[in-house]
Amino acid sequence: MYTHEVAKPTEQMLLCNILDLDSGETLDLEIFLSRELAAVIQDRGEMAARYNRDAERPWLVCQICSGAVMLVRTQQRRFHFRHHPDEEGKRDCPISTRGSFSAEQINSMKYNAAKESSAHLRLKGIIRDSLVADAQCSEPQVEKVWRSMPTAERAKWRKPDVQVERAGQRLAFEVQLSTTFLTEIVGRREFYRANGGAIIWVFEHFDPTETRTAEEDIFFLNNLNVFIVNEATLERSREAKRMALDCWHAIPHLRGRTVVNEWVMEEIFLDQLIVDTDAQQVFFFDYQAYRTTLEATLDLKHLRLDFYNFWLTLGTSDCLEADVAWHSLQNRMSIAAPHIPLPKSFRHGKFHGAVSIVLSAKYGWPVGYRLQRLINVTNTAFESYKAFLLAFGWTLKAFNRDDLLTEQDTKGTWGKRTKIIRDAFHDHDEAYRQDRSYNLFLAFLVPEIKEKLAEGREW
Ligand SMILES: [Zn+2]
Repeated sequence: MYTHEVAKPTEQMLLCNILDLDSGETLDLEIFLSRELAAVIQDRGEMAARYNRDAERPWLVCQICSGAVMLVRTQQRRFHFRHHPDEEGKRDCPISTRGSFSAEQINSMKYNAAKESSAHLRLKGIIRDSLVADAQCSEPQVEKVWRSMPTAERAKWRKPDVQVERAGQRLAFEVQLSTTFLTEIVGRREFYRANGGAIIWVFEHFDPTETRTAEEDIFFLNNLNVFIVNEATLERSREAKRMALDCWHAIPHLRGRTVVNEWVMEEIFLDQLIVDTDAQQVFFFDYQAYRTTLEATLDLKHLRLDFYNFWLTLGTSDCLEADVAWHSLQNRMSIAAPHIPLPKSFRHGKFHGAVSIVLSAKYGWPVGYRLQRLINVTNTAFESYKAFLLAFGWTLKAFNRDDLLTEQDTKGTWGKRTKIIRDAFHDHDEAYRQDRSYNLFLAFLVPEIKEKLAEGREW
């Protein structure tokens, strides 16, 4: 099951001027609110978290009254900004966003009422019984105050649904309710972060194609991992003497340059989870690490290094392995830089020669050739690739290869040839006219000569 959702702003907004205090710049709302949904939800959490940590140092503020703002979502799943409820009406802002808070206040009331719903009680019971069955966990405590650092104010103490200690790690279990709202979630995250604990949010059920904001506020901030318990997981817990959970998690894939998420469900155990108290994440599959690696394959710097590596190790190869590797590089290039065409085979005559002489000049030794020294490459360049001598010469210069060549040029052949080449350029000798077919690729490969290549010289 694949998902990819892009956030959308509301058509009209009450607050249109939002200042980013980190950058000092006005936010482009259209861009900010039209990014990948996960990024917008994560920033929504970040805004609330930073206000929670220090109300004097918010991230985004209303440019008119300087009051902190928060991002809210309409019934139609569109985003817009409002003053933070604690700031509303305090700063004499000509724009009031008060009226629209009623929905959230109602949610807050619903949240407290739902706390004791039968679904909630049942899930709490399953979590408790699963932990009792787990031989590695301390006796679970239900609805007990989590004693925090002695200095913390009593008002900030939390009462998690269930808490337990496992291998020296304190874990709080919270049942996710349809109306759990953001300030509640953020408040808990910040509390457990400060106290070295971690929360495992437990869902009653999960459908990746129909997620609600209250769920997204949790899983987009939890490395896209979701946990579920039910009668079946409890049964597995008792059999294995380890707390069992069902874990839904996303696996990122590339479709062109776009990341889409494939959602899968796996049966897992509590002791397989990675707990990161600083990031306040508890997960089974490290989505972000996987995604970072995936996106790096499209990063031009990485790609350039992989081309060097290819040419250094397989540039002279005749084997199938080289064709497979070339095909994969070609593929990545067609996504990362579709404007730079590459031939189907890297052995393509002119292409192979142009790249090999230029890379040899860059490295100072033969690359792509079974030759001894750079001076031998100058023979090949002069004899067979006259139309690429400009790029070759610019690269020699950019990497200061003159002394090296003078030292290797014991017979003075290259010395004489550089004069012949200069004269040929001067006389516009047709054989020396620059072949610019691969200039885009050569500029990508050796950025040091990019500007020279862009001049479009013929001789
Ligand atoms: Zn304002």
